[in-house]
Amino acid sequence: MILSSDDLARSISNERLHLILMPTEACNFRCVYCYEDFKYRRMEPWVVEAVRKWIANRAPGLRSLHLSWFGGEPLLARGVIRTLMTDARSLHETHRDLHVTSNATTNGYLLSPSVLAELVDLGVTGYQISFDGPREHHDRKRVLAGGGGTFDRIWGNLLAAREVSRPFAITIRLHIDRENTEAARDFIDQVGAAFGGDDRFDLYIRGLSRLGGPNDDSLPVLDREESLPVIERLKDHARSLGLKLFEAEPGHSICYAARSNSFVVRANGRLNKCTIALEDPSNQVGMLRADGTVEVKAAPMTLWMRGLRSGDAAELKCPMRGIGSAQATPAGERLALK
Ligand code: SF4
Repeated sequence: MILSSDDLARSISNERLHLILMPTEACNFRCVYCYEDFKYRRMEPWVVEAVRKWIANRAPGLRSLHLSWFGGEPLLARGVIRTLMTDARSLHETHRDLHVTSNATTNGYLLSPSVLAELVDLGVTGYQISFDGPREHHDRKRVLAGGGGTFDRIWGNLLAAREVSRPFAITIRLHIDRENTEAARDFIDQVGAAFGGDDRFDLYIRGLSRLGGPNDDSLPVLDREESLPVIERLKDHARSLGLKLFEAEPGHSICYAARSNSFVVRANGRLNKCTIALEDPSNQVGMLRADGTVEVKAAPMTLWMRGLRSGDAAELKCPMRGIGSAQATPAGERLALK
């Protein structure tokens, strides 16, 4: 891969800031493939205040601010989202050149039409919601923390979202594994019947990955060679139904973790680069301070950004590979950004 001068400029520009915020690390689900430990619950009040100050301090010099809501399940802490998005929305009044965008990775369980409308009005316009196939497959893998299936509630929220007259985009992410390749087709039919022709919905088909969770060894993950033709066939099927497929933005071959202007903000104020290996020592790149300044360690940052110097495609696509004591082979897993 040749790193274009535009990609390089975007990746190191001081006029851009991408914060992946974890307003809570708690979750109402216990998906069988999850790799998180749910240790930190709601974002501490001092962290919320520090993020507000950080953004306010940086705003005068920024052209682009992108806030990605991640967790845990971020919608369990809607108060934090409300506080920070209200600030972010008002930035445009004083900083006319600043473009603010926001998306959320949510399990969709709490995304009722009224919650969706409120969040879109606050500026959170992109969503990614995962499925593991139709109900009987999904409910085996994406289960509530107290036990029980989740498909019906999420699907009901998606159907109801169609009636929300707001400019949002929802990516339905479908995991393919050894057990659901046939059933995935039925799920795609279901998605086609419900959302085909509605431009606000698209479909992201990808293989299930091992991400460092305790059940990794027993997950029915397909090898890359096996999964590629299966996924291509399913994509063709989706296209034949008129479904829009998720297409990564240009520059998606560079993980946000490889950029100098992107940070994961943990609920306790720690700063990470990668959203998968959250506890890996190499992923601890700094700390937010109460006054809204950040303390960033040069050595690990340099390591994460090494692909920008080398131009090496693998180091840019997934800088976690080959550094630290990675919890898993993450296979380039990351948030799909809108
Ligand atoms: S695992 Fe790799 S691709 Fe995924 S977020 Fe971490 S560095 Fe990026």
